[in-house]
Amino acid sequence: MEHAANASTEHHEVIIIGAGPAGAATAKSLRDAGIEPLLIEKKKVPRYKCCGGVLFGEAQLVVREHFGEIPPQVYCDPPTIAAEDIVAYRDDGSYVPWSFELPRPGLELPTTYLNLWREKFDAWLVERSGARLLDGCGFAGFLRKADPITISCRLLDGAHRRFACAYLVGADGGASAVRSHLDAAYRALAEKGMGHYQAFHLHDAGGLDRHRWYVFPRRGGVLFKDDLAVITAVGRKGTKLREHFEEFVRYLGKRFGVRLTGFHRDEGFFQNSMAATGAFVLGHGNILLVGEAAGFLYFHAEGIASALTSGLAAGRAIARARREGRAVLPIYAELVQAEMEHTRLCWNREVMRSHGG
Ligand SMILES: Cc1cc2nc3c(=O)[nH]c(=O)nc-3n(C[C@H](O)[C@H](O)[C@H](O)COP(=O)(O)OP(=O)(O)OC[C@H]3O[C@@H](n4cnc5c(N)ncnc54)[C@H](O)[C@@H]3O)c2cc1C
Repeated sequence: MEHAANASTEHHEVIIIGAGPAGAATAKSLRDAGIEPLLIEKKKVPRYKCCGGVLFGEAQLVVREHFGEIPPQVYCDPPTIAAEDIVAYRDDGSYVPWSFELPRPGLELPTTYLNLWREKFDAWLVERSGARLLDGCGFAGFLRKADPITISCRLLDGAHRRFACAYLVGADGGASAVRSHLDAAYRALAEKGMGHYQAFHLHDAGGLDRHRWYVFPRRGGVLFKDDLAVITAVGRKGTKLREHFEEFVRYLGKRFGVRLTGFHRDEGFFQNSMAATGAFVLGHGNILLVGEAAGFLYFHAEGIASALTSGLAAGRAIARARREGRAVLPIYAELVQAEMEHTRLCWNREVMRSHGG
């Protein structure tokens, strides 16, 4: 890992902004094609990400094929959650199945999901990509959008640094700074999403089974990781999320005897409505967007699989564009066509209803 210092312009063939799953997958497929990208991440790695940290079936297949076996230290206790142990609780005391994954025709997906620490998982993906990482360095804006693409980044101490590249990949998540400089409609989308408020508590699980993941429609969810209960409250814009969350915690205590004995971390998170509305933006010229920055996210906020798939596609598209002397964007658009269709299908109202939403 490196820390930036001087003010001259540093040149690279490809720069990737964001070291989440989408950025790591882009880096991996570029390196597999013999291209050495620079991966720029605004936080220090390993970095925290507000997430359930559950790796569903499709994501597992992609990780195994491109990154290998996940090392034991990345897993939480319990290390796995069976698909049938993800349940929605009804006020009448019954449980109904709740699905986070829409099967794909012809693809047999694992139905035992992996319970991971996201920050460790993402750091491992980056390490396995083998790419050069510059962390503590945030994309701040474009100085030029072509010939060459030139960007300005801000370091943690407030200093600025300039980079130039032939291709730039925005893998900077659902609140993408790269996209906000490319897509005038982006801010309006951010007005329409869902708020998530997630907190980690030391717990006494009471009547809840630590091996299950509980969804409480209209309230939120509970998932167990080591000695922590991860409690997420969800609400539309305008919901007072903190109050909603506290009410949910009181409900868990009263209904199930869950006791929270200390506070580990808490934060709010806003997820925009790009995926739900099919508002994909794949990029502009030699600038590509991948993962949540592009609009890839399946229903119930499952996003690691499509972040990986779109990242791999972007890396392949750049390699092919260079090799064949072609424009990169049409190649990338073709490679992610099926991913866009699957995402649209996920957010179809009927499909969502049949999977618990
Ligand atoms: C509450 C919640 C629970 C979820 N649970 C699950 C789950 O259990 N399983 C699942 O599959 N999905 C889950 N998701 C969705 C999943 O977290 C995301 O879809 C996924 O992380 C998207 O990957 P990404 O690589 O596109 O972006 P991210 O993982 O968000 O990575 C983007 C990276 O870019 C960096 N970055 C941002 N801005 C800049 C900048 N200006 N310069 C440089 N770097 C920058 C960020 O620090 C970050 O490291 C959940 C989401 C939420 C909100």
